[in-house]
Amino acid sequence: MDKFIPYGKQLIEDDDIQAVLEVLKSDFITQGKKIPEFEKALAEYCGSKYAVVFNSGTSALHGAYFATGLEKDDEFITTPITFVATSNAGLYLKAKPIFVDIEADTGNIDVSKIEEKITNKTKLISVVHYAGHPVNMEKIKQIAEKYNLKVVEDACHALGAMYKEEKIGSCKYCDATVFSFHPVKHITTGEGGAVLTNDEKVYEKLLMFRNHGITKDKNKLINTQEGDWYYEMQILGFNYRMTDIQASLGISQLKKLDRFIKKRREIAKIYNQAFKNIPYFDIPIEKEYAFHSYHLYPIRLKKDYKDKKADIFKALRDNGIGVQVHYIPVYWQPYYQKIGYEKGLCPKAEDFYQREISLPIFPAITDNDVNYVIQKTLEVFQKI
Ligand SMILES: *Cc1c(COP(=O)(O)O)cnc(C)c1O
Repeated sequence: MDKFIPYGKQLIEDDDIQAVLEVLKSDFITQGKKIPEFEKALAEYCGSKYAVVFNSGTSALHGAYFATGLEKDDEFITTPITFVATSNAGLYLKAKPIFVDIEADTGNIDVSKIEEKITNKTKLISVVHYAGHPVNMEKIKQIAEKYNLKVVEDACHALGAMYKEEKIGSCKYCDATVFSFHPVKHITTGEGGAVLTNDEKVYEKLLMFRNHGITKDKNKLINTQEGDWYYEMQILGFNYRMTDIQASLGISQLKKLDRFIKKRREIAKIYNQAFKNIPYFDIPIEKEYAFHSYHLYPIRLKKDYKDKKADIFKALRDNGIGVQVHYIPVYWQPYYQKIGYEKGLCPKAEDFYQREISLPIFPAITDNDVNYVIQKTLEVFQKI
């Protein structure tokens, strides 16, 4: 079968390509003007004071955890229904991920189960706005204030989403928000990511962390400046810089974000209409505090179909529908098993994994393909 509709992909248009060409023909293809321009545009879009772009969402997470103070032997609370990077970024700092179970409808961390996992080692809560549906951040903020914890949002699914009146990334309810610009995400720079924050100290740490821990800022030097060449490496950082080539693509893509989100929401609406009240699976919900950005369209198999997931998945793939599963619980990964996590830790997350399938949703999908997905999906379930 030739047809293959992926679960997600980028939409690059002529003006995006033009923007990249301009940088390629200029004097600076990295560390030029496009980086601060992209950062300013991102912060403005989301309503935060600062944005620092990185070369991936994963390095941005690493930066966000570092800059908010996560250290060796600290514990941080997170969800198992996420991409491994959310948790791995804490392991890079030798901190310990503590997994809290999820709520079955949104797939987000169950806020009511966080407090029982807090110890005197807990430093940070890292939430994931699964599929683009925001976590109830007001409640997260209350817990964080009660126990003096930092909050990072892994918002790699949620650029353009809103919690109550606020864009995700405004950082009204957290210390830092992380985005990814991988091609399946809402906008792309090829590879890329960003951390948004309202905290000047966090901002300054992020800048150093992304550039080997180096500063040239005269006001921040430990020793006296010996001349204009002088710089200091004050912390152990990394080369996590984005290029200007990528930033120019990001600037161009960001202008289209509202159109992309609108399209994703339209597709979700069509699916919702086609799949409501069917006996096979549950469809995504949108709680009263949420404006969903539909990075994913996750369906959850009903009880009678849970055991047939592998067959359903295969039948959909055989029909050219590029379904995917989000996610295998992080602590089920062999590496996590090896370092001591055991299956059974988060029963709802494990059940969610066994039911979940993500249907294609992306701005470039055609109406024909949306209808094809609906028709074939119903057919597959009727036959199974
Ligand atoms: C994509 C993603 C990441 C990692 O982003 P990269 O840009 O691929 O490094 C982290 N967390 C979540 C939830 C993601 O979806």
